[in-house]
Formats: sequence, structure tokens, C-alpha cells
Amino acid sequence: MSGDYMVQATTNLVGAAYWRGRADEIQFEGRCLIDGKMVEAQSGYTFDCVSPVDGRVLTKVSAGGEADVNRAVAAARSAFRDRRWSGQSPVSRKRTLQAFAALIRLHRDELALLETLDMGKPISASRSVDVEAVASCFEWYAEAIDKLYEQIAPTAETDLALITREPLGVVGAIVPWNFPMLTAAWKTAPALACGNSVVLKPAEQSPLTAIRLAQLALEAGVPEGVFNVVPGLGGSAGRALACHMDVDGIFFTGSTATGRLLTEYAAKSNLKRVCLELGGKSPNIILASYGDIEKAAVASAESMFNNQGEVCIAPSRLIVERSIHKRVVEIVAEVAKRRQPGDPLDPTTRMGALVDANHADRVMGFIGRAKADGATLVAGGTRALTETGGSYVVPTVFDNVSNCMEIARDEVFGPVLSVIPVANVGEAVAVANDSPYGLGAGVWTDRLSDAHKISRELRAGVVYVNCYNDCDITTPFGGVKQSGNGRDKSLYALDEYTELKTTWIKL
Ligand code: NAD
Repeated sequence: MSGDYMVQATTNLVGAAYWRGRADEIQFEGRCLIDGKMVEAQSGYTFDCVSPVDGRVLTKVSAGGEADVNRAVAAARSAFRDRRWSGQSPVSRKRTLQAFAALIRLHRDELALLETLDMGKPISASRSVDVEAVASCFEWYAEAIDKLYEQIAPTAETDLALITREPLGVVGAIVPWNFPMLTAAWKTAPALACGNSVVLKPAEQSPLTAIRLAQLALEAGVPEGVFNVVPGLGGSAGRALACHMDVDGIFFTGSTATGRLLTEYAAKSNLKRVCLELGGKSPNIILASYGDIEKAAVASAESMFNNQGEVCIAPSRLIVERSIHKRVVEIVAEVAKRRQPGDPLDPTTRMGALVDANHADRVMGFIGRAKADGATLVAGGTRALTETGGSYVVPTVFDNVSNCMEIARDEVFGPVLSVIPVANVGEAVAVANDSPYGLGAGVWTDRLSDAHKISRELRAGVVYVNCYNDCDITTPFGGVKQSGNGRDKSLYALDEYTELKTTWIKL
């Protein structure tokens, strides 16, 4: 995610007391939104929505299952068939989605608070980064959709061949908990702009903003049945959606393990389109040829610890030439020590809670095993704020990591940075590419031709030169190798949510 996400505590926000007061009053909605109505799961089952901020139960959430997914897909199909949305002109869909973006901004504080309480990120980030990025995303696809032209093929004079774009139909979106609202927006905004109907399955750890977003879409004028949400567990609601015979495509952000299952479900059901944004273990190379070592090291560490390290593209493998290695380690350790976890509802906090207690245990497990494997712990390595009942882990840095250790190979998805010293540029690139993942990669150098040559050699969907995580909605986002196959964002995402049709006319 981008430099935008490198959130500084914003001064224009009100204080922690305001947010705590609002948190005491806020209404939570945990039911499914199907065919324009809030409904309980047909089974009546619910699960607790627990806040990682302090461990309290925020509300009960409907545990959607196969019956609810069937209802939602039927509603989406019926809306698609009668063309209440797909049949609207692009300019009409644009106006509705613009109204939706305006409503998102109007509900900025509420959405930010729901996100923070649900998954633990600092309120300053939820409010000024996530909500704004979500509104901008809907706005961007709204603006784009009435500016696209279709094509006529260069056939012989006796024929006319039209190449047109059509919506897929019923789109299933399954999203994770680290950027719950934003990953939902990256899928639903292009899907809706193209005229599809959507069934969204949010992560069980963070369902609240997805439900609220769909309510606001309805209020903005998106017709009933076009944007449905079924919260629930991955193995039930998620599986039912991915196995459904009447879903035309599954658009997924989440782990590589789940991505594998979705491919299998598609193969065993209706061969639906499957777009996968999966995990990462992104390398970030600092070369001695970069003049400002301090700048590179600070930016690299800040990127790593952004969003508590729960970022798919986090630069978790810091590959450094030996001649500058000692200095880089000192600086990244210093950044880690400065960035202590705090109350996510305090606008000055930059490091919030991990998504839940299980995930905090998982991260601590990685830390323990890295020590046992011989990596050198130079910062962090402990939990924090245990008295709050929340799930906090201190930013952690390991030095002298070898690329074959578990900590360098597996995705921790938490605030743990591994420093891998190397002898030269050749070894740096070889280590960078030695990973099953290929989401992001970074290189810091002042040598222009090295920058170009190395970026060509790095096997990743996104390469950053002399920065990390910078981006906006205009560029495609996704991975190669086991980091996935689809692309979110930019005009390229529209290809994922449409089919090309050829109409050949004999003149
Ligand atoms: P996850 O794969 O466990 O869950 C993601 C979603 O899949 C959730 O909604 C979950 O309920 C659902 N799910 C789980 N099992 C399922 C099944 N059998 N069938 C259908 N759906 C199922 O991932 P997570 O732990 O929530 O998220 C973290 C992962 O997401 C990390 O690997 C991270 O790298 C990845 N991620 C990738 C990107 C990207 O753009 N590449 C962005 C953010 C997160």
C-alpha cells in the first residue's frame, strides 16, 4: 500500500476522549445485507465480534452459511437479469457511485471508528487514510466508467466486427482483515462500475465496515440486490460462495493457502474466473551506492511497521550490502524502538493492536522460532499493553537472518523485520528472488542504470525505487508467483470484471 499509508499522527483530529465517547455510543450492525434488507443468518447462528483494542465483545455477527449465500447469489442474479443496475447507462451508474463516495465521506468518523474497533489499527490511519482511500476509489471508478470506448476490429470491408465489454454477472468478493474496507472497495468499486452484482464476504475478524458500506451504497441509490454482504466464517460462507454454480467470478484478497483452495473450488464447480491477491515476503534492497543511508533505513522500517506490519506488501526482508549493514541495523532498530504500541483510539498513536489474540500468538511463535534458529534480536520481541486485554506486539527487528530461515521464508504478517546482509548486488538480487512469493520489491541506489537493471530482474508485481509503498489508484496492484494472478486498481482492474464479446456482422 502506499506512502499515503505512512501515517503521521494528524493534528487536525480531535483527541482520544472524543473517540472513546463515540465508541461508547456507536451502533453496530452484524447482520447480513441481502436483497436490500438486513437479515439474520437462516440458521440463527452468530459469532462474537471481539475488539483487539481491549478484548471486549463489540456485537454478535451473523454466521452466514450456505443458505444465506444461496439467497444472496439469487438476489444478485435476479438484479443482474432484470438489468436494474447493469442496464443503466454508464453515466447513471457514475452518478450513483459518486453519491456513494460522498456518503462515505459524510460518515468518515463512524466508518473510521468501526474499522479501528474491529481490527485495531490507529484511528488516525483509519480516518485519514482508509476512509479517504475508499471514497476516492469509488469516485475514481465512477469517473472512469463513462469515458471508456469500445472497438471495431480491422476486418475486410464486407464485415463489421464489434469488440464490446460486458459485465461478468454475479461477482463474489472475499476479503481479509488487514485493510477490510479498502480491499472491499478495490473489488466492489470496479465490479459495480462495470454493472455487475456483488456478494461480499468480509473476514470474520473484521465484518463491520463491509456491512455499513453496503448500507450506505443502498442509501446512495445502488438498487436492492446489487450489493449484498454475507458475513461468516471462511470455511462456510466463503466456501459456499466460491463453490457456487451461479457465481461468475471470485475476487479474493487473502492468504496463499486460501487462494489455493479457491482455485480448487472453481475447478470442482463451474470453472468461474478466480483472481487472487495473495501473500508476500517482499525484499527491499539497500545498496551502498545510495547516498542517504539514513533516509533509506528510516523509510524501510516505517514501511515495515505501517499498519502493525499487517500489510501484504510489507518489506519484511531488508537485504543490505555488508559495507553499510551495521549503520542500517542501528537505524531500523531505533525506528522500531520509537514506534511503541499505544491506544488505537488516541490520534497520536502510530502502532495499534494486532487483529486478534490468535494472531498475536502466531506472531510471537515466529519470533520465538527465529531466536531458536540463530537470528539476532536487536529490537522488540515482546508483547505490550497486556493489561488492556488487547493484542499488542512491539515492533521487532532481527539481524543476521539467513534467507533459508523460517522468518525469511514465511509470511509473518506482523511487525517483524528481518535484516539479511549480502556481499554485493548480484547476491542481493539472487536472495530477493529466492522466495515463493512475488508481490512487492524495493531497491535503493543512486545509479540510474542499476535501478533499471535490478527492477527488471526482480520478480514482483510492483517494484519501488528509492521509496517503498508509494502508489495511488492509477497503477495496477498484484503479484506474480505464489502472490497471485489478478490485478486490483487502475483501469486494468476493469478487465477482471468484464468479458470481451465479439459480434461479427456480415454486411
Ligand atoms: P485468509 O486467507 O485466512 O482469509 C481471507 C478471507 O478468506 C477471509 O474472508 C476468510 O474468511 C476467507 N476464507 C478463509 N478460508 C476460506 C475458504 N476455505 N473458502 C473461502 N474463503 C475462505 O487470510 P487473512 O489471514 O484474513 O489475511 C491475511 C492474508 O491476506 C495474508 O496472507 C496477506 O498477505 C494477504 N493479503 C494480500 C493482499 C494483496 O493484495 N496481495 C492484501 C492484503 C492481504
